[in-house]
Amino acid sequence: MSTRKPGWAQLQAGDAASIWHPYASATDTPEVYPVSSAHGVRLTLADGRELIDGMASWWCAIHGYNHPVLNRAVQKQLQAMSHVMFGGLTHAPAVRLAQLLTEITPPSLERVFFSDSGSVAVEVAMKMAIQYWYSEGQPRKQKLVALRNGYHGDTFGAMSLCDPVTGMHHLFGDALARQYFAPAPDVPFGQPCDEQSLAAMEELLVSHHRELAAVIVEPVVQGAGGMRFYSADYLVQLRGLCDAFDVLLIFDEIATGFGRTGKLFALEHAGVEPDILCLGKALTGGYMTLAATLCNRRVSHGISEGEAGAFMHGPTFMGNPLACATAVASIELLLSQPWLRCVQRINRGLEAGLAPARELPGVADVRTLGAIGVIELEQPVDMQQIQPLFVERGVWVRPFGKLVYCMPPFIMSDADLEVLTTAMVETVAAVGAH
Ligand SMILES: *Cc1c(COP(=O)(O)O)cnc(C)c1O
Repeated sequence: MSTRKPGWAQLQAGDAASIWHPYASATDTPEVYPVSSAHGVRLTLADGRELIDGMASWWCAIHGYNHPVLNRAVQKQLQAMSHVMFGGLTHAPAVRLAQLLTEITPPSLERVFFSDSGSVAVEVAMKMAIQYWYSEGQPRKQKLVALRNGYHGDTFGAMSLCDPVTGMHHLFGDALARQYFAPAPDVPFGQPCDEQSLAAMEELLVSHHRELAAVIVEPVVQGAGGMRFYSADYLVQLRGLCDAFDVLLIFDEIATGFGRTGKLFALEHAGVEPDILCLGKALTGGYMTLAATLCNRRVSHGISEGEAGAFMHGPTFMGNPLACATAVASIELLLSQPWLRCVQRINRGLEAGLAPARELPGVADVRTLGAIGVIELEQPVDMQQIQPLFVERGVWVRPFGKLVYCMPPFIMSDADLEVLTTAMVETVAAVGAH
């Protein structure tokens, strides 16, 4: 018996009737494209069209879609168990993943807390920092410093650390914790940066260190808050300031982790070790939702020897075996390959392919780092206008604000990369010409 697949129009109508999409209206519903499958770097739409995916599903699908190694890992784990609770129980996928993560991150990070999504990993990091200081007899140290143009997630704690303007803090009023914000680092990546560049950060620490639990930053690349790349030296200086003022340092590598910036972790550009590290997105190669918050002995022992004697957090789906097994397979697959050469090859393709955009009217900047390519415009794009232009050119690129950017799967061929970058340049030219 054959089951009839719902068609394009039916899916769109069903979607518009009852689904709320990310950052979207429920009345003026956005145009969405039904996808029926995905393979390698290609998304197959429900009408048979294929798109080269420039987004890796928001930084995640580093190995591309439907990868045989990851598929096998899921299937194998499924035969054993898909989930068990993590209170009082453990299992090989979680143990192996924690071992791997502590091996590939800085040596001081030795304990791993698993959670379900990047935002929750940030919440966990915040709670770790606050509970640490409480345990140390400093209960007033509850506030954090974050950077302007930062993005750390959409739950309340994480949201309080996002850029107050682009994060629309005013909508949420007193429901949102008030944090401190330092200016976004303005020294470009690859350039030296001295103490002067952190003068405002230092002022915040001088004035408020008695109430500060931690500083949180996305190292080297500020992602959803503007796709800005900044000097790795900033992190060296920042580590020094945090130590001087007794404030913990949290790195949010949810976007940058697992090779994207040309280092396995962006912190390696600076050689700086944070007290707490958040991972997510590419952790499972884009297969499943999983995140991790790692911390050093100071934090884990401080909390454990404090009043509660335990860290007060425990998600239902913590350490999900399917997700952990997939993450192990994804990390082993990444490390078994010359991934750095792939990322460098993609960087060359992005540099060459996007360079012509520099000459176009309406373009403010073109920049690349690792497997990230950005065309920054002078004006925000009109999504309704620009999205179909990419699809017509056979690529999936999803701009936001003034940013037309891509972070392709690391497996993308030079030929596909050329199609992708050409489509980006032509589309920017087309909207600029209007
Ligand atoms: C995406 C992202 C998050 C939030 O992760 P979710 O899985 O969407 O909750 C947090 N921090 C950074 C830097 C991110 O890029």
